[in-house]
Amino acid sequence: MAAAIIDADGGDALGGIIHLTAPGDESAPVPEVRALKRLCLIQAKPYLVTAASAAEWIEAERILRGLPSRSLNGLQHRFADQAIALIAHDAWKPCMVEFVVRHFALLSSFSRRICTGTTGRRLNDLARQQGWSRDEAWATCYESGPMGGDVQIADLVFSGQCQQVIFFHDVRVSHPHEADMLLLERAIAASTAEVVYFSGAAVAYRWAEAAEREVRGNP
Ligand code: PGA
Repeated sequence: MAAAIIDADGGDALGGIIHLTAPGDESAPVPEVRALKRLCLIQAKPYLVTAASAAEWIEAERILRGLPSRSLNGLQHRFADQAIALIAHDAWKPCMVEFVVRHFALLSSFSRRICTGTTGRRLNDLARQQGWSRDEAWATCYESGPMGGDVQIADLVFSGQCQQVIFFHDVRVSHPHEADMLLLERAIAASTAEVVYFSGAAVAYRWAEAAEREVRGNP
């Protein structure tokens, strides 16, 4: 399946993967699974590990194709009750900044934004440039990723305090805190019905565009 994700000649490669695992499943670190995820990200295709992410992605694609949406109804109300985590590895930070500029109003409509340290500081600077003048910071910054920030966010996911995670993961380099990221993914997968997780920029952009159309009521 990992090989079938590679779109070498624009042919009939797989369009993405929905990979749901049972809590306690030990398959996450095996090479087949890691290759599958890595190649999905490299090919800018969805790799979805929760039922909530799969449902959200299907709805987003329906909206972008002009079809009536079902579960994205009432989005504004939903976001107002939810926290979203935004995390980007160094090579993807400029892209995360661009993503936040483009979808600032949508992301600001969540009740809370949480970030690993370096990503969060960058986004807070950006928010000030965008005119964010409220007393509290736009994003709550946890530790930097290599210092345990992903584990702190995993804890928030486990305890039901974070309902969406957008992670611009750099799969072209290895990371000393790989285990922390696996723990975060495990926390997310264990909350399959509740947590929406997009692990690459391409899917996040499509989701945000669809969500904005839906919020505007203008499919
Ligand atoms: P950072 O961490 O935002 O502190 O760079 C991201 C990560 O490495 O997970």
